[in-house]
Amino acid sequence: MKNNGYFKELFVGAKSLLVGLGVTFKAFTQPIVTVQYPREKLEITPNYRGHIELVRDPETGECPCIVCGMCARTCPCGCITVKGEKKEGEKRKSLTVFQLDFTKCSLCGLCVESCPKAAIDFSQDYNIAGFTREEFHYDLIKRLEERG
Ligand code: SF4
Ligand code: SF4
Repeated sequence: MKNNGYFKELFVGAKSLLVGLGVTFKAFTQPIVTVQYPREKLEITPNYRGHIELVRDPETGECPCIVCGMCARTCPCGCITVKGEKKEGEKRKSLTVFQLDFTKCSLCGLCVESCPKAAIDFSQDYNIAGFTREEFHYDLIKRLEERG
């Protein structure tokens, strides 16, 4: 009677082990859906909305911003500061300041939609972290230069 209980427990334990191993082997054959972050980076969908950034015209390689200020006026959160100056001999203003206070941005997209020159777009930058609010005040001209 005592032996029966012992073998029953042994059988249940072995069965449970085999079921567990079955789950493990099944997982081995599944496609990998995780990445070794941060060594590996995720492929972001083109529709992803990171913070806004200045972009270059693919033909000229220049940022097409004409310093009209439409993006700053349209922004409901007041997080864009745009300034420009007219240099000697130039017909138009050149962009001198383009700052984004990302702590206030709601990613609504109104600035991107309202830009008449398609000079701004959402970045694919999802890896954003910081310790102070100031770290989220972005100089978008500097960021554009850094991107090359
Ligand atoms: S996405 Fe919206 S809230 Fe953010 S900067 Fe543009 S207009 Fe302002
Ligand atoms: S980014 Fe677009 S809307 Fe904003 S100042 Fe430049 S041209 Fe005007």
